[in-house]
Amino acid sequence: MKLQGWRIGQFFVWMIGLWIFIALLVAPELGLHAFWDVLIPLAPILIVFAPGLWRNVCPISTVSLFNRHRGWSMQKRLSRKRQANLTTVGMILLLVLIPLRHTLFNTNGMATAVLLLILSLTAFVLGWLYDWKSAWCAGMCPVHQVEKLYGSRAGSSYLNAHCRSCSNCSIPCPDSTVKGFVNPTANDKRGQKNGLFLCAGFPGFIWGWFQVPDYSEWNSMVQLGTVYLWPILGLLISLTLFFTLKKLLPGSSRQYLIPGFTALAVSLYYWYRIPALMGLGVYPGDGMLVDLHDSVPAYVPALIPFLLGILFFWWFLKRPLEASWLIRPEYIKRERS
Ligand code: SF4
Repeated sequence: MKLQGWRIGQFFVWMIGLWIFIALLVAPELGLHAFWDVLIPLAPILIVFAPGLWRNVCPISTVSLFNRHRGWSMQKRLSRKRQANLTTVGMILLLVLIPLRHTLFNTNGMATAVLLLILSLTAFVLGWLYDWKSAWCAGMCPVHQVEKLYGSRAGSSYLNAHCRSCSNCSIPCPDSTVKGFVNPTANDKRGQKNGLFLCAGFPGFIWGWFQVPDYSEWNSMVQLGTVYLWPILGLLISLTLFFTLKKLLPGSSRQYLIPGFTALAVSLYYWYRIPALMGLGVYPGDGMLVDLHDSVPAYVPALIPFLLGILFFWWFLKRPLEASWLIRPEYIKRERS
């Protein structure tokens, strides 16, 4: 696709984002369904199969890079250490915000709108201060941690529809490097540790998250404890399992651990999420898009995620690493502070 096509795509997706934001404020039920039950369930599958497509059209990334496109960004260089700190903050944000969905965001349009506003403003300011994607899209964005995990086997590379030239703002550049998340170059030790932690712990975190119901109103601190307890418990079980297997498995089989756990994480997500969308989840009604509990045969809600799971395991375990998310644009040398 040519650059002009990507610009139209960015505008279109940004307008959808704006529409959802307004809906969250004026018609919260519609906005919550559009955001949590349509957009968010589509994101993992898109990130697995076409991470570059998502990176080019993500509406918050469009907000973050607006100043850079207009020539108004201060284009400061971010040191590797500070960028690594920002990615750690992004991962903490991810793990803190997801459980809060149960007690706040899933049922409160205003709270979700405020969250999106805060994330967009942060992205805007970081994009104004720092060069290209270094501070937000390849730094503090909480979704970027999931992109690096699920997008570690890109299907094809797309034109980079944001960076007009490459100033090497991020080393290694997540968009231009053909590498799995947890196998980055040796000079990205923090990225390697963060990646390994998320890969090893995320399947259990997802499993634990689905064991908790949505609370429509705040009751007590016990409620807050519950929404964190299960995901954290799952995370710890998953970490223990991963590192025990790493010790026990023979060397030749260890290579399957990281892609296997990545496939497990995304498969578990859809194992629970697809039935929930049909009103047949662990807590019927939570995260429901259409109520199909009387109209589909009982095996359908299990069959679809099962087939998807086979596809994900094949994708992560069998496909070679062969494509970067995006094609690196022409390189322009700049000094790094
Ligand atoms: S392509 Fe270059 S300028 Fe763009 S994010 Fe990657 S390193 Fe930064």
